[in-house]
Amino acid sequence: MIPDAFRFKDTLFRRLKWLTLFRALFAVLLLGSTVVLHLRRVDTLVSLPLLILYALILAIFSLSFTYALALKRMANKEILGHAQIVMDTFIVSAIIFVTGGFSSIFSFLYLVVIICASMLFNRRGSLVVAGLCSVEYALLILLEYHGLLRPVGIEMGFSTVGYSGPFALYKILVTSAACFAVAFLSSILSERERQTKQELTAMEANLKRVERMALVGEMAAGLAHEIKNPLAALIGAIGLIKDENHLDATQERLMRIILREADRLSTLVNHFLIFAKPPAGKPQALELSQNLSELIDLFEKDRVALGRIRIEKNLLPEMWIEMDPDHLRQVIWNLLLNAAEAIDGKGCIRVEMQPQGRRFLEVAIQDDGCGMDDAVMKQIFDPFFTTKPTGSGLGLSIVHRILESYGFWIRTDSTTGGGSTFRIRMKRIHPPES
Ligand code: ADP
Repeated sequence: MIPDAFRFKDTLFRRLKWLTLFRALFAVLLLGSTVVLHLRRVDTLVSLPLLILYALILAIFSLSFTYALALKRMANKEILGHAQIVMDTFIVSAIIFVTGGFSSIFSFLYLVVIICASMLFNRRGSLVVAGLCSVEYALLILLEYHGLLRPVGIEMGFSTVGYSGPFALYKILVTSAACFAVAFLSSILSERERQTKQELTAMEANLKRVERMALVGEMAAGLAHEIKNPLAALIGAIGLIKDENHLDATQERLMRIILREADRLSTLVNHFLIFAKPPAGKPQALELSQNLSELIDLFEKDRVALGRIRIEKNLLPEMWIEMDPDHLRQVIWNLLLNAAEAIDGKGCIRVEMQPQGRRFLEVAIQDDGCGMDDAVMKQIFDPFFTTKPTGSGLGLSIVHRILESYGFWIRTDSTTGGGSTFRIRMKRIHPPES
């Protein structure tokens, strides 16, 4: 990942490059308009204001050239950016001075400089530049008003002489207010732009990570698939050896350990395969209460629940969903298994169906087990997350993956020691016509 500081320097470099180019273009425009002005004035060949304007244009060109060189050579681009913007405010003041001072139409150029500043610096930087522009403008107008500075444009008819004090003050205030308003607004905009860019970069990095993970996942699924068949053969062969040979007590115990661990490995591989590549399934119309009832009956007889877990049912008939029956079995079984495993000793699981409007229904599986704290709750759907000594951490990831493929949602309520409830929201369908 590119460090932020590096990215910032890179952006600053690009922006300073554009600013230098923009400034040079502005100088070309100014030169063009000055030449036109010059050609129209047949009486005076080169008047003082025109001379100063030409000198200014030359200065802007030389500065642009110097900036371009410094941009390549200078390591600290920030100082260069600051220097350029401060210099720009002086250039604008000079242009205003040459083109009539108080009556110059070029005071808007301060706003352009402020917008450029907001693209380079943060909000404080832009406001400082706005302050600098206001001070320079106020000085220019006040010195002119008190007769200490005579705008050179007067000879060329740029300037109208004589204006009242309050009007000068009014103009200073309006220009300063405009400077600060533009600084504020444009810095908000460029901060947003920076933020959006950062978010986009983060999303891009995340997408790349996800793509990498998907690749690793596909490889792992391939590997698991290759392990599955030899493992099944191994378990079968060991079973045969066990049945056909007379083993002493120690050998018997070791054989049991081998078979148990091989079984565990086989379950893990199978679960992982279901998680990594869930079988496509053949969705069909299912009457939910009947399917749930059969599953619950089967579960009550399983060794995890037998004689220990009581299951209370509150099922509603004639509610139909579209789902592969194997997928439904996998989801409900995993949730029932987790509920039973969360109960220490004897306990109760409640399975309840509830309509949610006309289009949806909810199946809730509630246990009075150990419950979960917030930290656990945040991770339960992550693959391989488990708090059980021999858990695979894939049960809920599979549940989530299957439900997601049908557009169904699952949510959890739980408190430590207060049991847990898993609620599945499913889409209802109309009963099939028989
Ligand atoms: P595993 O059961 O192999 O640990 P799961 O993905 O099914 O994997 O569950 C992940 C974790 O979620 C469990 O280890 C457990 O901490 C927590 N969990 C799931 N269901 C419940 C439940 N009903 N009550 C308390 N904790 C639960």
